[in-house]
Amino acid sequence: MHQLTLAEIARGLADKKFSSEELTKVLLARIAQLDPQLNSFISLTEDLALQQAKAADARRANGESGALLGAPIAHKDLFCTQGIRTSCGSKMLDNFKAPYDATVVAKLAAAGAVTLGKTNMDEFAMGSANESSYYGAVKNPWNLEHVPGGSSGGSAAAVAARLLPAATGTDTGGSIRQPAALTNLTGLKPTYGRVSRWGMIAYASSLDQGGPLARTAEDCAILLQGMAGFDPQDSTSIDEPVPDYSASLNGSLQGLRIGVPKEYFSAGLDSRIAELIHNSVKELEKLGAVVKEISLPNMQHAIPAYYVIAPAEASSNLSRFDGVRFGYRCEDPKNLIDLYKRSRGEGFGPEVQRRIMVGAYALSAGYYDAYYLKAQKIRRLIKNDFMAAFNEVDIILGPTTPNPAWKLGAKNSDPVAAYLEDVYTITANLAGLPGLSMPAGFVDGLPVGVQLLAPYFQEGRLLNVAHQYQLNTDWHTRTPTGF
Ligand code: GLN
Repeated sequence: MHQLTLAEIARGLADKKFSSEELTKVLLARIAQLDPQLNSFISLTEDLALQQAKAADARRANGESGALLGAPIAHKDLFCTQGIRTSCGSKMLDNFKAPYDATVVAKLAAAGAVTLGKTNMDEFAMGSANESSYYGAVKNPWNLEHVPGGSSGGSAAAVAARLLPAATGTDTGGSIRQPAALTNLTGLKPTYGRVSRWGMIAYASSLDQGGPLARTAEDCAILLQGMAGFDPQDSTSIDEPVPDYSASLNGSLQGLRIGVPKEYFSAGLDSRIAELIHNSVKELEKLGAVVKEISLPNMQHAIPAYYVIAPAEASSNLSRFDGVRFGYRCEDPKNLIDLYKRSRGEGFGPEVQRRIMVGAYALSAGYYDAYYLKAQKIRRLIKNDFMAAFNEVDIILGPTTPNPAWKLGAKNSDPVAAYLEDVYTITANLAGLPGLSMPAGFVDGLPVGVQLLAPYFQEGRLLNVAHQYQLNTDWHTRTPTGF
């Protein structure tokens, strides 16, 4: 039963082949048995899950239907869940029980999804390896000595190991697409504003966006449908109708114009990944797509710009964790300043402290123009490059990451080496565009992802291309040994 996708589960539940309660029990048992190897969950919510599963079964018995009604999922542990610990992977929030549900959590619960638990993540979503969590590193089910990617590494490892069919993630600079690529999943970062950020603990507010992680594009369509939509509680949410994503999956790719940026194939890219990307292009050509070389001339400036803007916003967002109102408070403070200093010094891990310092520096009066303002100008140039490219092509295709999953600990002493892994993903966040990563093959037994980018609000186009690709390839069906 654990091999079923969301789409298959929906059919099985509708045909009364099994109940949501039965399925939930099977998956909870599987998590108890296998997750100790992976560490993909921070909290399990067994009681809530069984209660939601029974309620979903009762709704189906009353004639209700819906693709998510009774479907087991999990939430990245930065989505607020009422009465349940919402840690953000940090000691700072280890004792924090959210007083309300995030909009995404509430919407999925209303659609009948069953929450099995809260998944592990890099502390405050800062990272590309899921090694900065207060709750310990997550292991990649394809090779337990390797990282699963981050920061949504817990969601990715759990879904890849078939502990559950799908999970939520968030993507500030690649944290849905990169772990999807490194664990052989399909992951989608929606257009900025498509999914509500209300109740999603902020890292860098102008870049953060929630989205689905699943094994197939078909399942991403189902989960995105439950997450997307206008939310008056989020001032950056966009009041655009949500299309039927599952209905968009069967379009022909005849004449689809695919742009492949020449800058993507530079020295930093593993040549074996480059070959797999070219193979995926050939596959799409067979389905009728037309391929064109394009240029994104300002791409080389994306990492420096992102690593100014994201820490700047983080330094501001994380100032609320001061040991006074909620979260961690140090023992026996001598005075107020000591309380602030030690609560923050003890509650935040080293990567979070590094980002706060970099961000506060970039925003300081003497350096604002030189760093923050400059980075914002680069951000606009990057957006303009995409706008020009999308005048010529319908989607942009390239690698999701320059390398496959690295060994645990391999980049710990060199943060910049880890930042460089984000080179292909962060531009979509800087421009606010939707992006998807899907399985494209293996290198040394480790999964490789191909990334597709589309114009604003064209999530349906991304899902359609990925679904057509998945109807003609079987990379996404491969299962890691032992799971
Ligand atoms: N690796 C990037 C960072 O550390 C992206 C993280 C994310 O998307 N949350 O900032």
